[in-house]
Amino acid sequence: MNMIDMHCDTIYEILEAKKRGEIISLRDGRLMVNLNKMKQGGYGVQNFALFVKQDERSSAFETVKELIATFQEEMRANSDLISQVTTADEILENQRAGKLSAFLTIEGGEALEGSVDKLRYLYEQGVRMMTLTWNYPNEIGFPNFKQGLDFYTPNLEDGLTETGINVVQEMEKLGMIIDVSHLSDAGFYDVLKYTKKPFVASHSNARAVSPWVRNLSDDMIVKLAKRGGVIGINFCADFLKGQRKSEIIETIGLMASKDSSAGFYDILCHTRHMANIGGVECIGIGSDFDGIPGYEGMPTPDTMPQLAEYLCKNGFHESEVDLIMHGNVMRLYREVLG
Ligand SMILES: [Zn+2]
Repeated sequence: MNMIDMHCDTIYEILEAKKRGEIISLRDGRLMVNLNKMKQGGYGVQNFALFVKQDERSSAFETVKELIATFQEEMRANSDLISQVTTADEILENQRAGKLSAFLTIEGGEALEGSVDKLRYLYEQGVRMMTLTWNYPNEIGFPNFKQGLDFYTPNLEDGLTETGINVVQEMEKLGMIIDVSHLSDAGFYDVLKYTKKPFVASHSNARAVSPWVRNLSDDMIVKLAKRGGVIGINFCADFLKGQRKSEIIETIGLMASKDSSAGFYDILCHTRHMANIGGVECIGIGSDFDGIPGYEGMPTPDTMPQLAEYLCKNGFHESEVDLIMHGNVMRLYREVLG
């Protein structure tokens, strides 16, 4: 199947455990993502995010360097099963050698501390995608949670800063993928305005199905799709279920099929809605494993083939499911990474 997952926080969890004196192995540890489960689930690629959680005690850039060191240790310790890649061709090479591929990404543009030189340094370390913000403002821009507002009111005012505009333009020049998950709505439209290449929302769903501001509005889905971008379906229960707007669910004709596969069913609702308005070419997977709480019915890396089969049984053609599981992201890698 060669499944591609655009987002997980596993490296952050491994480093945090190490700080507590606990060793967790990427090979077969107790986290949501491990190499054994990925192999069982028919994975080709995992994007490993370096999640920079703001902390007054250390600089964000130093934290990201620590996370890179953790990632590299894991790559060395498991080089028989997985290796880091930076292009689509390297993914294919690994596939031929029977190996998994790891893409290095950053979640939280504060890692750059506002410096384009630091962005270039991170590119040299193999970072090929960056989520511009997490849930607080940084030198680049603003999240979609505005102080004092609820989870359902998007931030339409605060977009990219001057630094942010420079950063996204430099990312395009370098061949790095811009990720708008977590970014304010205003920031999304700035990315659209100041860039030319396809970009992603690596782990976000459809706001029309679940109204959280972490999800994308229909207009954003249509515009991102027109640009050739990809949206990674996030498995977080809140972003999948939220306060679902029943009229949308009825429109897409899925009311009758609600069954015990609650997680799969919710993923199907978002996937169907995105396909209806943006086309199947804009959909990928961005699980957010190890960054979200588990729940009953949640897919796991080893149940990805069942998810693919479920989508096939519920209105998607096999070739469309192939696009969702890996084809769309491979196309994007070819277009943006060079
Ligand atoms: Zn996130």
